Order: sequence, then C-alpha cells, then structure tokens
Amino acid sequence: MQALSTSTPVAVIGAGAMGSGIAQVAAQAGHQVFLLDQREGAAEAGRQSIVKQLQRRVDKGRIEQSALDALINRITPVNQLDDLASAGLVIEAIVEDRDIKRSLLTSLEQVCDDDTILATNTSSISVTALGAKMKNPSRLVGMHFFNPAPLMALVEVVKGLATSDAVAQCVYATAAQWGKKPVTATSTPGFIVNRVARPFYAESLRLLQEQTTDSATLDAIMREAGGFRMGAFELTDLIGHDVNYAVTSSVFNSYYQDTRFLPSLVQKDLVDAGRLGRKTGQGFYNYA
Ligand code: NAD
Repeated sequence: MQALSTSTPVAVIGAGAMGSGIAQVAAQAGHQVFLLDQREGAAEAGRQSIVKQLQRRVDKGRIEQSALDALINRITPVNQLDDLASAGLVIEAIVEDRDIKRSLLTSLEQVCDDDTILATNTSSISVTALGAKMKNPSRLVGMHFFNPAPLMALVEVVKGLATSDAVAQCVYATAAQWGKKPVTATSTPGFIVNRVARPFYAESLRLLQEQTTDSATLDAIMREAGGFRMGAFELTDLIGHDVNYAVTSSVFNSYYQDTRFLPSLVQKDLVDAGRLGRKTGQGFYNYA
C-alpha cells in the first residue's frame, strides 16, 4: 500500500505538545495541514511555537528562512471540524481520555469523506475500544508519535481488531515517507514503548517516595551511569504529568489493576497541584 500523496491535506486535532509537533512533521513532508484545538487561540499558539523552534535552526544556519516560511504557510489554524472536510488523514492528539476521543471520532465520521483515514496518537487507550462507537472502525488506526515529534524517529502504527490492513499499511508507508521509523503493534495496553517504559517511571517514583534518593540525583545517575538520555523525572516533566499519569492509570486499569502498573501518589499530587512539568513551568523541576 502506498503512502499518502503529499498533495493530500492532513488535519491534526489538538495543538498541544504532540499536535503541534505532528503538524510540523506533516508540513515538513510537504502536506497542507489544518490544525484545530478546542481552546481559543491554541492552534495559532501551536503554529507560533513551531515558528519559534524553527527560527532557532534558521539562526544557526541549519535551514533557510525561505524553508521556514514555506513550511509555516502550509499550516492553517482552523476553528471547527467542518474546516477539516478535505483532509485525507486526520490525526487526533487531544486529551488522553477514552470517552472524549470516542466522541471526537464519531463526530469526525460525519464531517470527513468515507475514505479519509482517522488516526489516533493515543499513548495507551485501546484502538479497538476507541473505534467501537464508530460506523466504520476499519478506518481507525493508532499513529503514535513520541515527544518531541519532529525529533523522535519512532512511530507505532497500532492496529485495533477492526483496523483494515490497507489503512495500517498506508499509515506505515506515510510515516516512513515523513522520515520516521514506523513499527507495527497490536492494540494491547500501552502498545510497545509505553508498556516497557512503565517500570522505568514506576520504580523511579517508588525510590523517591521511599526517600532513597532525590530526583536530581536519580536523573543524573540514569544519564551518567545508565546511559539514558533523560532520567524519569526530567522525562515525565517533558511528557507532562497529566498525560503520564493518565497513561499509567489507563495501563493499570486495562491490566485488571495489576499492581505492577500502580499509579504513583507522588505524581498524582503534582497533577492535583497543576504542576504538570515544563508546560506549566513547574514539575519535579522549575522552568521559570
Ligand atoms: P497537551 O495537553 O499538550 O495537548 C492536548 C491539546 O488538546 C490541548 O491543547 C487541548 O486544548 C486540546 N483538546 C482537548 N480536547 C479537545 C477536543 N475535544 N477537541 C480539540 N482539542 C482538544 O497533550 P499532549 O501531550 O499533546 O498529548 C496529546 C495526546 O498525545 C494524548 O493522547 C497523549 O497520550 C498523546 N501522547 C503524548 C505524549 C507526550 O509525551 N506528551 C507522547 C505521545 C503521545
């Protein structure tokens, strides 16, 4: 199955950390991109965050100003679902909540052409369950990017029970055409990476709760002795504690509350306090 032609418009819903990054990746590959967010001004802010990031590369002489201008002109912030009607691929990157994503997907079916591929960037929610309320769940597939999407190569292409082979193959080929390294996974909770990564976060949080060490020491050890690019506290500050906690809770509940995946009260406290990490200026570390 062939990748989508670059003349096919792509829509991204949710202009937060992931949605903005995915919009950049698709625009970089040459697609016209519609970017939508329910929060007023968020889509334009997402577009501006892409400009800011790319401007640094222009300043360092890595890309031409004209390339930045061309890329950014391909991204159009829009306000309503009807504005996405011409997209051949819609990627949702909204809040990690099964019912909210389901409701968006059923609304999209009313707006989009029958052959438009609907993709979800969910980190952990069953693609099968997300498609269960759709009229045609065969067109739904997981297209799971990693943070930051423009830099991270891996994309998990996640097949739900109803996902058609043709849809999964097209998204796989499209991710490869966008310069990514796609892998195929079936829709088990957390798929591959978020399943394997749970103990990394959980054990680090347990060590903190048991006061064995502090966050800065643990992160430094993981980087300097463990060879990791980031320690668990730096990484969860980057991911966002709301997102990371929701993903752990989703994996925990999907595995019948297996205590191996027990969510952390330390992290819940951060979420309750609104200390979501870099995006709010404070998490385990301060970014002000
Ligand atoms: P985020 O909080 O930065 O952004 C989410 C955006 O979606 C917000 O701007 C919000 O206003 C918008 N939104 C919420 N509900 C909406 C709706 N119904 N319609 C339109 N817009 C809506 O979150 P994020 O970190 O970008 O995560 C988004 C998705 O990507 C989640 O499913 C998450 O699990 C997944 N994901 C996150 C990461 C990560 O490291 N943060 C990595 C991979 C996948």
